[in-house]
Amino acid sequence: MAPSCSPINSLHVAVIGAGAAGLVAARELRRESHSVVVFERNTEVGGLWVYTPQSEPDPLSLDPNRTVVHSSVYDSLRTNLPRECMGYSDFPFVPRPEHDESRDPRRYPTHREVLAYLRDFAREFKLVEMVRFGTEVVRVEQDGRKWKIRSRNSDGVSRDEIFDSVVVCNGHYTEPRVAQIPGIDLWPGKQLHSHNYRVPDPFKDQVVVVIGNFASGSDISRDLTGVAKEVHIAARSKPSETYEKLPGADNLWLHPMIETARKDGSIVFKNGKVVQADTIVHCTGYIYHFPFLNTNGYITVEDNCVGPLYKHVFPPALAPGLSFIGLPWMTLLFTLFELQSKWVAAVLSGRVTLPSEDKMMEDTNALYAKRDANGFPKRYTHRLGVVGQAEYLNWIADQIGEPPVEQWRNKELEDGYVRLATQADTFRDKWDDDHLIAEAYEDFLRQKLISAIPSQIFG
Ligand code: FAD
Repeated sequence: MAPSCSPINSLHVAVIGAGAAGLVAARELRRESHSVVVFERNTEVGGLWVYTPQSEPDPLSLDPNRTVVHSSVYDSLRTNLPRECMGYSDFPFVPRPEHDESRDPRRYPTHREVLAYLRDFAREFKLVEMVRFGTEVVRVEQDGRKWKIRSRNSDGVSRDEIFDSVVVCNGHYTEPRVAQIPGIDLWPGKQLHSHNYRVPDPFKDQVVVVIGNFASGSDISRDLTGVAKEVHIAARSKPSETYEKLPGADNLWLHPMIETARKDGSIVFKNGKVVQADTIVHCTGYIYHFPFLNTNGYITVEDNCVGPLYKHVFPPALAPGLSFIGLPWMTLLFTLFELQSKWVAAVLSGRVTLPSEDKMMEDTNALYAKRDANGFPKRYTHRLGVVGQAEYLNWIADQIGEPPVEQWRNKELEDGYVRLATQADTFRDKWDDDHLIAEAYEDFLRQKLISAIPSQIFG
């Protein structure tokens, strides 16, 4: 739907979360003349990127009454995408002259650099003044045509407030998904989820089985090789005959999925190999979780599909009062947060209109039908993938009159994923797409987003 010229509505909007999604949502909503309150249960901005050495007392995070630790970042984490493609469109994630030596200028910097970037972003756009820190949203429900939010501050004091609209940006990497392993109940070893992994030291001299071989699994297994006796990766996607010694360490092997865990402590893989293991680390992803949301059953999370949602953002019957930023994955996340936020802000102000509820539902059902016809499970509903993500982002850009996402940005994501999959031990320090870095920096220069190409970039 093209932008219209109707008068602008200025609404009172609640944003839940001050991570990368909530910060840019707040900025875009304010730019569109809305009044914004950001609820953040932590004491600072940055969400997932606020590293803490603490993990949860329940290492698999199965206890619903446990004390939740939000961040899933481990100490050694460096970004899994090149920094040029990670930043917001008008505030590039690049080394800057004013940065001191505490900053990390590398193309794939540490988690500390991402947090520093998000703090810079919040400072630059004066976002902190909109955030109510130490305030957790415990309930969200409709109140006539408005929305009632119940929050609780760090002193335990609850408060109900009415908003015209609620934008949910609570993050999706905190509630672990754990692999089902035949025989696990009798297996005597230790288990934890990557959400609760911080440093390799506790695994010294152990035989560790890591389930999952994508970003976290690949990283954590390599982190462990420095101290553990042996590390064995179990990868669901690998054929049953797989058995490979992986490069970059002399104690790291790749297997297909686990066949069974036995009460004598052994783990049997589908390739028939058996190891006597001390610990299993589940790097098996996360589930969407909205414990505060009460929509009388309208919005459900089934096999990790949140729905019904028009274009992963608006629940047709509750739009535009309720919206979700940041559900899709396998995409340029910060770009997605920014575009979705601009769309929500423009729809709320009336500058852009949504289709009718029936049409939104039709579109959502068509997405589900396509997913089913392609044989994908429900949990892949929000997986965009390299081709799908460019289409999706450009579709939103078109709705709000923004230019399509830069080609270099999409290509960096695409090449970045290939490198991550094919050279897991070296992808952060070795690449062959300097031409894309050059394009990115020329683009930043042309738009006057930087004043010079930083000296660190091309040596
Ligand atoms: P979060 O950063 O999780 O922020 C959500 C915020 O909401 C938090 O501050 C939380 O305290 C707050 N909150 C939650 N519930 C409530 C409540 N009820 N009331 C009040 N506040 C609440 N992406 C990349 O682009 N590049 C990478 O290299 C990369 N690496 C990653 C590595 C790991 C290990 C993981 C798990 C993810 C990685 N990601 C990466 C994805 C990353 O999650 C996103 O980039 C992004 O930071 C998520 O932002 P968010 O705002 O959606 O969520």
